[in-house]
Amino acid sequence: MGRVIGIDLGTTYSCAAYLEGNEPKIIPNLEGLPTTPSVVSFTNSGERLIGNLALRQAMTNPEKTIFAVKRLMGRKFDADEIQDMQSKIPYRLSKAENGDILIDIDSIKLTPQEISAMILSYLKKCAESYLGEEVKEVIITVPAHFNDHQRQATKDAAKIAELEVLRVINEPTSACLAYGISNKKNATVAVYDMGGGTFDITFLEINEGIFHVLATNGNSFLGGEDFDNRIVKWLLDSFNKETGIDISYDKFALQRIKEAAEKAKRELSFTLESEINLPFIYSDESGSKHIKKNLTRKELEDLTIDLIQKSIPYIGQALDESKLEPELIDEVILVGGQTRMPIIKKKISEYFRKEPNEKINPDEIVALGAAVQSGVLEGKIADLVLLLDVTPISLGIETENDTFVKIIDKNTTIPTKKTMAFTTVENNQRRVRIHVLQGESKIASENTPLAVFDLVGIEGAPAGVPQIDVTFEIDADGLAKVYAKDMATGRKQGIDVRPSSGLSNYQIEEIIKRTREGQFKVDEDDETRLL
Ligand code: AMP
Repeated sequence: MGRVIGIDLGTTYSCAAYLEGNEPKIIPNLEGLPTTPSVVSFTNSGERLIGNLALRQAMTNPEKTIFAVKRLMGRKFDADEIQDMQSKIPYRLSKAENGDILIDIDSIKLTPQEISAMILSYLKKCAESYLGEEVKEVIITVPAHFNDHQRQATKDAAKIAELEVLRVINEPTSACLAYGISNKKNATVAVYDMGGGTFDITFLEINEGIFHVLATNGNSFLGGEDFDNRIVKWLLDSFNKETGIDISYDKFALQRIKEAAEKAKRELSFTLESEINLPFIYSDESGSKHIKKNLTRKELEDLTIDLIQKSIPYIGQALDESKLEPELIDEVILVGGQTRMPIIKKKISEYFRKEPNEKINPDEIVALGAAVQSGVLEGKIADLVLLLDVTPISLGIETENDTFVKIIDKNTTIPTKKTMAFTTVENNQRRVRIHVLQGESKIASENTPLAVFDLVGIEGAPAGVPQIDVTFEIDADGLAKVYAKDMATGRKQGIDVRPSSGLSNYQIEEIIKRTREGQFKVDEDDETRLL
């Protein structure tokens, strides 16, 4: 068996780590850098570039440079967030037959899982080159608020990359594991995690090596990219005001503006003013036009304060669910690159009346925690015995009149299993349809559909007589299995929650085959271009 590594597959950056002795260590990429942009690009000559190489040529190849694919994982094409995202990204999306998302690269259509797999394969290759041994198994992290489809899509991506996922753990929990190993004390901890695309708040209790997640809450569509987009809009509007020209439809210009916006945002975490200089952003008969603007930290804060405020109610709700008060929190950990923004640190310090713990780099902490978890699973870390995570979103089924009946409440410790009894609504009803959903609304159609299956052959009886037990089981990765059983006949029907969308095992095998055969030409001279 090779070495197990931890991977944080981020929206904007990804990172891998391993355990050396009892210490988690970052695995540098092939360029020697600790994090790798989660970017894949397909050049006109048929090369596939990953990470920094892909990012560097994004400006000249925006339609075939895929970034932020994590935001597409396990989602439906028609979702409002995806439609909104499509209007902001230069690459094209289309709808798969089952409603999932496809990414169009010329005539080739790839799933988000395949793009993520390319990033994972690159990280696997970096790890193998750095550690000098084969890597086949991983601990992979996901945002705590990821639903079942998003978790399954992440696991499928790893499978395509020919990596076996030993455990899926929530990013904040992972961060806490990294923190716990370097502090080794009992504490109640808040993890505020804002990365490139998602936001989570999690409260945990560490007690004698047991990590118990008390509650988690968040928004899988709130993160650093939203901050960048505000700067992009500010630049586009001011250019329009000064020149009367709308360049928002120019994909090349937009990509340059997006990169400059992100760079300015990062700079403003350390300086009070940043110059955004984009010469020759537009040309016509009347000549060339340029963007040259100064953005102050205060202006950036004004442009984005509502995004920070949007995260606050989630904290209150998770505190209530944990039965905690801000004063009872011993440690506040900031995770995700976006938390480097000074006003975020300030608002969070004010909220908890405590300075956040900044001992571990927020870009690396999640991968480090995943490496710790690999040590726990392999029995290498004896004093860290147990990780008790929770399910972030309630699960249940649809009943009469579009009603949602919760079977497993959000924040239930996993793994878990619960059974609830249901009955028929019509006389002699021989079949019931079990529609599995995830969400918090009492109205079924407002929640996320996960799977549908039928239990057939129910014994004929008046309405309300048959007893049908529905059982939900959630494993340690947060993935669900559902069974329905007619208690009179003992007939049972069950499902691993995945078939209403996502990739089937057959499709995954086909993709692996395609990948092995080499769908895209690669440059043998440049290691970083290979998967
Ligand atoms: P992560 O997914 O944790 O790698 O976070 C990436 C996000 O953090 C991106 O949106 C980055 O633009 C953002 N980020 C990284 N460094 C900084 C910084 N110094 N100030 C503000 N945001 C940053």
